[in-house]
Amino acid sequence: MAIQTFGVIGSGQMGNGIAQVAAMSGLSVIMNDIAPEFVEKGIKTISRNLDRSVEKGKMTTDEKAAVMARISSSVSLNDMARADFVVEAATENEKIKFQIFKTLDEVCKPEVILSTNTSSIPIGRIAAQTKRPAKLIGMHFMNPVPVMKLVEVIRGIATSDETFQATWDLAIRFGKTPALANDYPGFIANRILLPMINEAIYCLYHGVGKREDIDTVMKLGMNHPMGPLALADLIGLDTCLAIMETLYNGFKDPKYRPCPLLQKYVEAGWLGRKTGKGFYEYS
Ligand code: NAD
Repeated sequence: MAIQTFGVIGSGQMGNGIAQVAAMSGLSVIMNDIAPEFVEKGIKTISRNLDRSVEKGKMTTDEKAAVMARISSSVSLNDMARADFVVEAATENEKIKFQIFKTLDEVCKPEVILSTNTSSIPIGRIAAQTKRPAKLIGMHFMNPVPVMKLVEVIRGIATSDETFQATWDLAIRFGKTPALANDYPGFIANRILLPMINEAIYCLYHGVGKREDIDTVMKLGMNHPMGPLALADLIGLDTCLAIMETLYNGFKDPKYRPCPLLQKYVEAGWLGRKTGKGFYEYS
């Protein structure tokens, strides 16, 4: 089936980035969230990003207007009846995602592929909420979506070859490079990245180093573009904690226990850049 209309569930930092790259690739995009103000915030973010591209001469104002015109707002999952392909990028919470997929399965045309941008929830568990497990797949974009080249494509146990190929091809259409991972907790990217970030938080917790020193060691010593604590703030500390809990519960291995300091920050509402405070302060 030719994909013309692309549905995005969640208009947060990942959802609006995915909507932007989809609209830039020429697709009509329906961007959904639970309340109009969340969708509007997502649209504003896309508009600001494109303004920067116009300022840098990478895009004309007419091209920007054409991309914006391809994005429509939605606060009802019923709108996904028009979509030819859906990616879910709502909050990293199993209950929320299960409910979304149950509804999407009822609302979407039977041939439509339902993908998830989950950082760590098993694709098989999400697929089991629907009557179309062969059409379920992980499409894991990286943050910030318009900039990062990778899409980790995750095959669930029941994902069909057709679903896999269509998703792989779509990632390429978006100008991304796909990599294939199988369905185990954290897949490839977060299985490796998050324990490193969690260990950096343990270094802070145990007083091994101050936040700046921990990040400087990893930036200058390991050539990472950002330190792990600054990266945790960018990802969102709630998302980091959710991923560590998925690894811990999924493998039942104590090496994945989330650092108590991470837990404490999340309980305090210090979620990183999105709330203005995490390991660093943002104005
Ligand atoms: P976010 O908090 O910025 O955005 C999540 C959005 O989902 C919010 O706007 C929220 O209102 C919305 N939402 C919640 N319940 C919903 C529902 N029932 N229907 C529609 N929308 C709903 O989070 P984010 O960082 O954009 O993460 C979204 C997903 O992407 C998560 O699964 C996360 O694990 C994954 N992810 C995040 C990153 C990252 O670096 N932040 C990277 C890759 C993948």
